[in-house]
Amino acid sequence: MTALVHYPIGTPGQPWGAAEKSAWLSRQVRHRSYADDVLAKVDQLRTRFDVTQYGLLEYGAEHYPLLAIRSRGWRDDLPCVLVTGGVHGYETSGVHGALQFVDKHAAGYAGRVNLLVVPCVSPWAYERIHRWNADAVDPNRSFRDNSPAPESAALMRLVAPLRDRFLVHVDLHETTDSDESEFRPALAARDGKPFEPEGVPDGFYLVGDVEDPQADFQQAVIAAVEKITHIAPADDKGEIIGSTVVGHGVINYPLRELGLCGSVTQARYRTTTEVYPDSPRATPAQCNAAQAAAVAAAIDFALAHGV
Ligand SMILES: [Zn+2]
Repeated sequence: MTALVHYPIGTPGQPWGAAEKSAWLSRQVRHRSYADDVLAKVDQLRTRFDVTQYGLLEYGAEHYPLLAIRSRGWRDDLPCVLVTGGVHGYETSGVHGALQFVDKHAAGYAGRVNLLVVPCVSPWAYERIHRWNADAVDPNRSFRDNSPAPESAALMRLVAPLRDRFLVHVDLHETTDSDESEFRPALAARDGKPFEPEGVPDGFYLVGDVEDPQADFQQAVIAAVEKITHIAPADDKGEIIGSTVVGHGVINYPLRELGLCGSVTQARYRTTTEVYPDSPRATPAQCNAAQAAAVAAAIDFALAHGV
């Protein structure tokens, strides 16, 4: 396919400057409330879990407290598990799947692991149902030194003291129809590149790390999710969104090189979930349940196989 979609901001072939980013920002609309959807739900968990504020995100007059949920009775002798949602704010089931995992599954891990759950890394984008932050920066390409995204920098600071103690990290994402209709065209326009459609896979898949793929671990997570929702097939090139399928529903990315959240710890068992919420065969409840089940399966596998 060679179809080119001209994004309505900027000049094709030229990367955006400040004026284009400002024009983009002026088009963003607040669709939903982080306070109502996320902070209120976290408040309900405070009777059973410890909640800490690890930062404050500020864009102009808007302030967003950044919250992490921790196991009560945190023990230094236990391995740590990191769960991150909403690194891409629009990926709704990542946020609510993380909260559902805490509410429904976390108690079963008491005394076995220390849980650190960050349900909504990028709250400004959660409210705008967008991929980028207010500076037109993708937090999930920004997990690197001197990060250009305050969302990513705050999470890196939270995790840094524990960096070597994580056994598991599950980063919860979605692949949506709006990736193809809005976000990939916007990315191409922002960077002055042509947009080439890749298609959107119908089903759930995982992204592992090319540097440490952990194929058996990934398949254990796929098997758990497959009981809830369907797994994305490989396309006719044997790929999912341009990457070779290395196992049922699994592709690998160079996480560290790309500055992805999946590289924020040194955990032996790391995966990134990609739920497909726009499938006619998947309800929002299934998407949340798939995220929560993926986290539980990842921890179960790690505890069974150890370090
Ligand atoms: Zn994502």
